[in-house]
Amino acid sequence: MEPILSLSPQDFITYLRNENIQRIYFVYDEDAEAVKASHVQLQAIADFLNNDKRDFKFHEGVFIQVSSEFDTLFGAFIHRTNRGQAAGGLRYWSYDTVEDYLRDGLRLAMGMTHKNALAGLWWGGGKGVMTHNPDVYKLDPVVREILYKEYGEFITSLRGCYVTAEDVGTSVSDMANIFSRTRFTTCIPRELGGSGNPSVPTARGVVAGMEAALEFLGEKIKDKTIALQGMGNVGMSLIKFLSEKDVKKIIAWDIYPDIVERARKEFKDFNLETHLVKRNDNSLMSIECDILSPNATGATLNSRTIPSVKARIICGAANNQLEDPVDDDAAINKKGILYIPDFLTNRMGIVNCADESAGYVTNDPLIERHLSKDWEYSIHQMTLKVLAESHKSGRSTGSVAVELAEKLSFENHPIFGHRGKLIISSLVRDGWEK
Ligand code: NAD
Repeated sequence: MEPILSLSPQDFITYLRNENIQRIYFVYDEDAEAVKASHVQLQAIADFLNNDKRDFKFHEGVFIQVSSEFDTLFGAFIHRTNRGQAAGGLRYWSYDTVEDYLRDGLRLAMGMTHKNALAGLWWGGGKGVMTHNPDVYKLDPVVREILYKEYGEFITSLRGCYVTAEDVGTSVSDMANIFSRTRFTTCIPRELGGSGNPSVPTARGVVAGMEAALEFLGEKIKDKTIALQGMGNVGMSLIKFLSEKDVKKIIAWDIYPDIVERARKEFKDFNLETHLVKRNDNSLMSIECDILSPNATGATLNSRTIPSVKARIICGAANNQLEDPVDDDAAINKKGILYIPDFLTNRMGIVNCADESAGYVTNDPLIERHLSKDWEYSIHQMTLKVLAESHKSGRSTGSVAVELAEKLSFENHPIFGHRGKLIISSLVRDGWEK
């Protein structure tokens, strides 16, 4: 057999079925200072985690189940639960190998720890990742209903150490299917008492980050030129909010002609310059502007694009904007550009659903304080704090923000303490894998 980590998810599923295994876990054992696998046959994966220096950061647990209906892996990656239940969205995606799948889950879960901690939320960090089986037509509503309901049952089995939400590949109706099988979810549709679409608050959060960065420079947003990559849900709302702030000009681009056309029509009375670009064309990242705002896909800031960026500030909603979180962060810092880390400024998606189960009110103060200028955990205050420390120490904003987030992430929940870890221990003790 090929080494287990280089197997495709489909071949891995076949292997697990042949071994008569449906559920597996990898849990960090503090006494042994090592990751323990649920099954001896999977020790190679535990060894990989123990030896990895890049993506494994003492994650508390990784739980994986093979769907009984489709050849799909259901995963829950739990990074740290001191601040509360691990929270983060469910990604439905294709992966070439088991290693790619694990690395993505580990990295995304840690990113949620940082995002939630910097936002002052009493949530830990986690992520759900479900593999796409190429033999299954993923747009079939019947398939999706079965799949997401079963994922909901998987989440229930984890007793609340991970609370799921919407992410790439998962829609609001999928969330309704999850909700029909578990209480441990957020982001459910408004019709079911949930918080609905988070794109508008997310765009407001990005504006808050831009304004804080400008304040740091002693400037205002009025009369600035902003370049926007991506005019989807967040990008379109951003254009609206920025146009209301009397910015001088917005230059925006997208890969879909109908989206470009819609923006042109909707903002015909505003100084909006639109461009239609090809999928891999990032040349407009180098356009003359005050602020560059990535709101499309990840990794558009990289060693190919950063050298020609002319903006003084980079601030957008796209997740994982830096292709290499360390080198690209340093390169931006070296150029003297103020980079507002994505996990600081795009938090409003999770903030919007964080207190969903506690009910909600119009202009909810628990949400609005993130957009205020004075609350210590607001996007404004956190951005100023990160920029000030970066300026003082000469370190990149990304490294400063991660350090701050790491520190906050070890604070224990004021009521529940480090309960997520207890839940994980009880799952192991009670033989969850059986
Ligand atoms: P979306 O899919 O609605 O919009 C993305 C837009 O980018 C689309 O219109 C797409 O055509 C365009 N695009 C893709 N590649 C492009 C390219 N190379 N150049 C220009 N345009 C390109 O997604 P969204 O909800 O607006 O989210 C945007 C980003 O922000 C994503 O990375 C998402 O993960 C992140 N994010 C969103 C939220 C939220 O509340 N929606 C919250 C946090 C983070």
